[in-house]
Amino acid sequence: MGLHARYLCIKEAWKRLQPAGPGIRGLTGWLQLGRDGPMQTARRIQELPPYLFAEIDQKIAKAKAAGVDIINLGMGDPDRPTPSHIVKSLQLAAKDPKTHRYPVYEGMLPFREAVASWYERTRGVELDPVSEIVTLIGSKEGLAHISLCYVDPGDINLIPDPGYPAYSTGTMFAGGISYRMPLLKANHFLPDLSAIPDDVAKQARLMFINYPNNPTGAIAPREFYEDVITFAREYDIIVCHDAAYSEVAFEGYRPLSFLEIEGAKEVGIEFHSLSKTYNMTGWRLGWAAGNREVIEALARVKSNIDSGVFSAIQYAGIQALSGPQDSVAAMQELYLERRNMVINGLQQLGWELERPQATIYVWAPVPEGYTSTEFAALLLEEAGVVVTPGISYGQYGENYIRISLCVEQERIKDAVERLRDAGIRYC
Ligand SMILES: *Cc1c(COP(=O)(O)O)cnc(C)c1O
Repeated sequence: MGLHARYLCIKEAWKRLQPAGPGIRGLTGWLQLGRDGPMQTARRIQELPPYLFAEIDQKIAKAKAAGVDIINLGMGDPDRPTPSHIVKSLQLAAKDPKTHRYPVYEGMLPFREAVASWYERTRGVELDPVSEIVTLIGSKEGLAHISLCYVDPGDINLIPDPGYPAYSTGTMFAGGISYRMPLLKANHFLPDLSAIPDDVAKQARLMFINYPNNPTGAIAPREFYEDVITFAREYDIIVCHDAAYSEVAFEGYRPLSFLEIEGAKEVGIEFHSLSKTYNMTGWRLGWAAGNREVIEALARVKSNIDSGVFSAIQYAGIQALSGPQDSVAAMQELYLERRNMVINGLQQLGWELERPQATIYVWAPVPEGYTSTEFAALLLEEAGVVVTPGISYGQYGENYIRISLCVEQERIKDAVERLRDAGIRYC
């Protein structure tokens, strides 16, 4: 396809997509040549979504400087330490000079074997550790890089809105276009596949889904995954399931792995992470598993960008996946208790909320008359409480805030009391 034809094709594709925030300037400017100066950044940087917290960050800094005690319910980053047996195994492994050299790019085989037996043990899923698993420097890295494997300029990815930002920025970095699948309360925050126009589906390469879901806390039933697989087969789409919260579930609920569903391995892969399960966000360790061609493509792109994960960290990962799992049960109990405190507290203030069965988030609607950013600013100014405005996760996140469960119970209690004292209610 010639450049001009490609330009028209992209413009056409754009018109059919929903207004998806920033981006159109970069695409229509595809053929504009010339730069303002040597430091002018590439379009892919100019096209990054605006940083929506800037204003709130300033307010936080100002409040802190004035001595206000801020309660931060904005961060999706476990506050408790990594279990000590995992830390110890890193300490030991780091002393072995063999770990000091370049690691095996696609991940050391014993780590991938530990992942395979974890899947077998916890989900009854069989995987070949050699060809169906690749180690990632945290799953975010893989989620951002997968588009480089399959997306050419002008191709479409289907992404959830609200959703984790790496899906859409990875798409944009590859020159692709995000078609946003709204996650609406009326649909239990599942995308409505039948609402995706036929011509969009035909041009789509990847579909990102994420359950248990950040930011909505929603979960997906087996039928949903079955529908996704049928849809993916019909339109030749690769499914990328983000399962970062598969172990953060409450009261006996056990989230499904996408790979448990019949036919999943033919159409897609699952991204996974040790970050939330074992309080290891700082360690940067995750994996992708599933379809061997997709895994091979991802490993190939990665081998040209990074050189894998520090082997000592992979040894610690083996310890995490294969060692005692009491810490996982304790983590679930902890978040359950915090979830109940947040839900009970908000209910007393007029919110009607269902109890999320998984994740470390409560997704709460904002009272009428406020945008999500305005309401977050109000909570900060009136109560010193930080929450994340839903608009940060996409246009369909507007009218919600995300409350994270990553602070001690005492602080959650304080936060609810402060909201009450400030007269903040849902109405
Ligand atoms: C936390 C999180 C991840 C995990 O990211 P890592 O890079 O593995 O730390 C992935 N997806 C979502 C939706 C998350 O919230």
